Amino acid sequence: MESPRFKEAAVEGLNNKHLRMALARSREGFIGGRQRAIDLVPEFERLREEARSIKNHVLDNLDHYLERYEAAVTAAGGHVHWARDAAEARQIVLDICRRVGARTITKGKSMVSEEIGLNPALIEAGYEVVETDLGEYIIQLANEPPSHVVGPALHKTREQVSELFAEHHQRPLKTGIPELVAEAREMLREKFFRADVGITGGNFLIAETGTSVIVTNEGNGDLSQTLPRVHIVTSGIERVLPNLDDLSVLLRVLARSATGQDTETYTTLSTGPRRPGDPDGPEEYHVVLVDNGRSQMLGGRFREMLRCIRCGACLNHCPVYGSIGGHAYGWVYPGPMGSVLTPLMQGLDNAYDLPNACTLNGRCGSVCPVKIPLPEMLRELRHLQHRNRLGPRLQYRALGLWRWVALRPGLYQFGNRLAARMLAWMGGKRRRIGSLPIANGWTAMRDLPAPEGQTFIEQWQAQRGKQS
Ligand code: SF4
Repeated sequence: MESPRFKEAAVEGLNNKHLRMALARSREGFIGGRQRAIDLVPEFERLREEARSIKNHVLDNLDHYLERYEAAVTAAGGHVHWARDAAEARQIVLDICRRVGARTITKGKSMVSEEIGLNPALIEAGYEVVETDLGEYIIQLANEPPSHVVGPALHKTREQVSELFAEHHQRPLKTGIPELVAEAREMLREKFFRADVGITGGNFLIAETGTSVIVTNEGNGDLSQTLPRVHIVTSGIERVLPNLDDLSVLLRVLARSATGQDTETYTTLSTGPRRPGDPDGPEEYHVVLVDNGRSQMLGGRFREMLRCIRCGACLNHCPVYGSIGGHAYGWVYPGPMGSVLTPLMQGLDNAYDLPNACTLNGRCGSVCPVKIPLPEMLRELRHLQHRNRLGPRLQYRALGLWRWVALRPGLYQFGNRLAARMLAWMGGKRRRIGSLPIANGWTAMRDLPAPEGQTFIEQWQAQRGKQS
């Protein structure tokens, strides 16, 4: 967890020209793509509202739908495992892999497996773990965490990927995207055939049928779950939906919000292991349902965060994320959704800077397909941090002083007049202040416009005098 060094990491991000180039390219694609896709669906706002109420209904009845889901999975011949936290989830997966004598494990993209730190645990236990989503494969080679919930390697330029592949594949450098994709496919194919266990996430879980659903653009998830002898799904408990009709609503908002597609290339539904007569599929089917702080969230004021379907739209529209990238946030979930989830899951003090790294422009909330009030939640987290005195001591002293002065209107207005005149004097003829100790975060990068030399009240009174 690197969130405590957010400020240094943000500066590193701002100074990384490759990152800035990669972010600028992807931002244009994501934002424009989403807009074009939703413009073609006049009922998109209605779908958002419907998606929101489906998720709210599930959260209101989560125990019921989870039990129903477990019963349906069991009836289909699968196994459901309940994990209270990350350690339990890792242990469950390790136990399954050990019991079935696994050696090679292929993985589809799963943010929950990142959240529970699954890869390091499997590798430490001696398994060969291969990420098969192209973005995840790239960052596995680069030994980096994902920087985006939909595009894990979005921070990398094509040139960087070319060099990475040439180094790890021991092949001549390739520069074209189709050639790079073909090379990754060739490398992965043999792993797919060798894998004993396939691990995928679960975008949605259907209570009525016991089905896990993944949406991908590469088909790697399908190969990870159908070719190995054992398929393990890792998913958060909040991903359950009542039935397939509800799924169709969520799928319609997910793809458009995430990648600007009408639908992802592959939407794969898996129900239990291979049945007699099935041409393919795993012999064992397991679902690890991870709580890891979600029950606590369910009972608290941040319950609405559990509606999140990890589409990434809030990241794509966030100017802070768009400037510093995902790694600066220091944990699995970056951007606005991460600035809410990380403090809730890793501690308000461990992620102090995250809720504060926000301009409160409101775009994240306005694009969220399930209408999560992210700006309000970020404000609420700031409020909690303030109440628990988690900020720098100087900040509370300064606020205390400000409060003391603000309760004395005469003194407050005198201070304002004095400050307005001093700042006007400091601005000189240019009317700009190049350096100001109490605002050096601002003046380090740009000039501060100097005020007129009068307070707002003075200007307003003067204006009123002219009008009367
Ligand atoms: S908070 Fe909303 S916009 Fe952000 S990832 Fe989750 S569902 Fe998507």
